[in-house]
Amino acid sequence: MSYIKCLYCRECGREYPVAPEHVCEFCFGPLEVGYDYDLISKVISRESIQKGPLSMWRYQDLLPVSKEDGIDMGTGFTPLIKAENLGKLFGLKNLYIKNDSTNPTFSFKDRVVSVATNKALEFGFETLACASTGNLAGAVSAHGAKAGLDTKVFFPADLEQGKILGAAIYGATLVAVNGTYDEVNRLCSELSDNHRWAFVNVNLRPFYSEGSKTLGYEVAEQLGWRAPDRCIVPAASGSLFTKIWKSLNELKDLGLIDSVNTRMDLAQPQGCSPIVEAFEQKTFHVKPIRPETIAKSLAIGNPADGFYALKTIADSKGNAVRVPEHEVAECIQLLAETEGIFTETAGGVVISSLRSLAKRGIISAEEVVVAFMTGNGLKTLEAIEHVADPVFTDPDYDSFQEALNSWNGRRQNVY
Ligand SMILES: *Cc1c(COP(=O)(O)O)cnc(C)c1O
Ligand SMILES: [Zn+2]
Repeated sequence: MSYIKCLYCRECGREYPVAPEHVCEFCFGPLEVGYDYDLISKVISRESIQKGPLSMWRYQDLLPVSKEDGIDMGTGFTPLIKAENLGKLFGLKNLYIKNDSTNPTFSFKDRVVSVATNKALEFGFETLACASTGNLAGAVSAHGAKAGLDTKVFFPADLEQGKILGAAIYGATLVAVNGTYDEVNRLCSELSDNHRWAFVNVNLRPFYSEGSKTLGYEVAEQLGWRAPDRCIVPAASGSLFTKIWKSLNELKDLGLIDSVNTRMDLAQPQGCSPIVEAFEQKTFHVKPIRPETIAKSLAIGNPADGFYALKTIADSKGNAVRVPEHEVAECIQLLAETEGIFTETAGGVVISSLRSLAKRGIISAEEVVVAFMTGNGLKTLEAIEHVADPVFTDPDYDSFQEALNSWNGRRQNVY
């Protein structure tokens, strides 16, 4: 059972039937899923959610798919970890890490793709496709395999090995495009006009993007049904960022949490920070740039939801933070050495933003802060190759003692 009512235009409000469409024919605004919240409020409660599966599907009443005979790869309900060690370092007493790198293909993209794949099955598509910055390719490939769909994933050719192989293994057709993500996306838009393919983040985007809401629902439930005081979220297109905000407000409107006083802080790397740039220029108009960043999962120079992300920052009195490229790997290491969590480059961007906000006194010590780790470090090994520094030794006692002593002499911690 799904409570989806229609699609509607976020700009002019015009309503559309539920179909694999994503732009308004009249004003070219993006389409959004409309729900029957009156009906939802009659069936949903904390108890009904808690009786559901330990996955993102416990929030199915708030998702745009029925899924009765759909697929569930066990995505979601990922750990929310109290980060005591890192918190102490930054002077934060209530710092939490939402570790979404434990999903089936090791990133939060499994959430959006789970919704999109089930919607593609409902619409009767036979081909599942995407324009990817990396993690999406893996998620689409795995879900396509599980659903028995033909799968085609498009990505910039300079992608990390871990992300290419992490998609290839599922038997998808890989399309490595000589160009940026924005060029890949343009190609995919053209293809989706001319082929009956379900591009999860193009023609299925209104449904797909709703999957990100489950991250916000989970955090609120895991905090004991309350919204955090602050969320720090990495942004590429800006969609995830806006959907976490939407999810918290839905919970409030449905009476599942009391209030939302959450500041939404958006994090981008120096080499691809068009949303931060607009925030600093005090405009809602994002000027496209050509990305050049170590955080390839965030390398979108023309972010589709940039405007709405800026609105979310304004509505929530949040911030936008730009992170120096060299701090990305350093902060991946910092999180690993303090909390035992190995995140990818996007996570490094978030930790660096968190540190910057804490140092500048923008975050106060008592705030309940959630930093979102959206992907797994094993997929971006290129970024941290310099970290490996073993004690090289011959296999005898004296050699080892000597080698250890000289190694101790040059050992450096990142903090
Ligand atoms: C895709 C991605 C994001 C950003 O998602 P948007 O919704 O496009 O802003 C963040 N982190 C990781 C690891 C990603 O793969
Ligand atoms: Zn419109």
